[in-house]
Amino acid sequence: MISITLNIEEKSYGSETPVLGSLRGQFKLGKITAIVGPSGCGKSTLLNMIAGLESSQKGEVGFSETSEIKPRVGYIFQSPRLMPWLTAKENLELIAGKSNPAIQETLSAMGILDKLDSYPSQLSGGMQRRVSIARAFVYQPELLLLDEPFTSLDAPTADQLRQQLIALWQRQQSTMVFVTHDLREAISMADEIWFLSRPPTTVIHTLSINQPPK
Ligand code: ADP
Ligand code: ADP
Repeated sequence: MISITLNIEEKSYGSETPVLGSLRGQFKLGKITAIVGPSGCGKSTLLNMIAGLESSQKGEVGFSETSEIKPRVGYIFQSPRLMPWLTAKENLELIAGKSNPAIQETLSAMGILDKLDSYPSQLSGGMQRRVSIARAFVYQPELLLLDEPFTSLDAPTADQLRQQLIALWQRQQSTMVFVTHDLREAISMADEIWFLSRPPTTVIHTLSINQPPK
């Protein structure tokens, strides 16, 4: 399994005060880490830096011993970001390739096998979210990043999605890092919680949780 080490000295946008200060740590391999902190403290920025979508001006995000090896990173964004001109199945085929059996399996695990041929505009917000989660899993990511994946869903739908996500994750046991402002969600899902301060953001506390067997 590929390890992920944060060794960020500073990150700022433009000339303003830094968003992220000294941020050091290692995510638990094959476990779920929740990142919790006030709005605007740089949680999305941090995820983007881990994904390589945003550069770290000072310091680095390292993978394993050599930073040459980049893991397969799956990213589940706050909004589903599906290709609107492709059906649910075609959105997954784009990642997994045509007639990949993982597509059926994953859509089935998310309970949306009957939505294979629907376009995103024909699906509810919750259904779109399910497709976007399935899309991340068919990629079989070694590292899965999630940015507030359950916001703006009603409580029962969010609960169901959390359970389906955990069930899919248990099959692959990739390293998962998710951002949330919902402490209860963090406590119910994560093996470790990182609490971030206000900018310049650092990790102010980490909390390990012994999750009951799921
Ligand atoms: P969080 O996810 O914790 O709400 P963000 O990482 O989205 O925090 O943002 C942290 C701060 O950086 C905010 O003040 C935000 O306005 C700013 N910021 C985020 N992205 C950009 C960007 N691309 N350009 C300039 N400022 C940004
Ligand atoms: P969140 O609170 O979930 O992090 P935001 O609404 O803060 O989401 O940010 C959404 C997008 O806008 C992100 O891609 C972020 O990089 C960008 N962004 C946020 N703040 C700024 C900013 N001040 N200037 C430019 N882009 C920004």
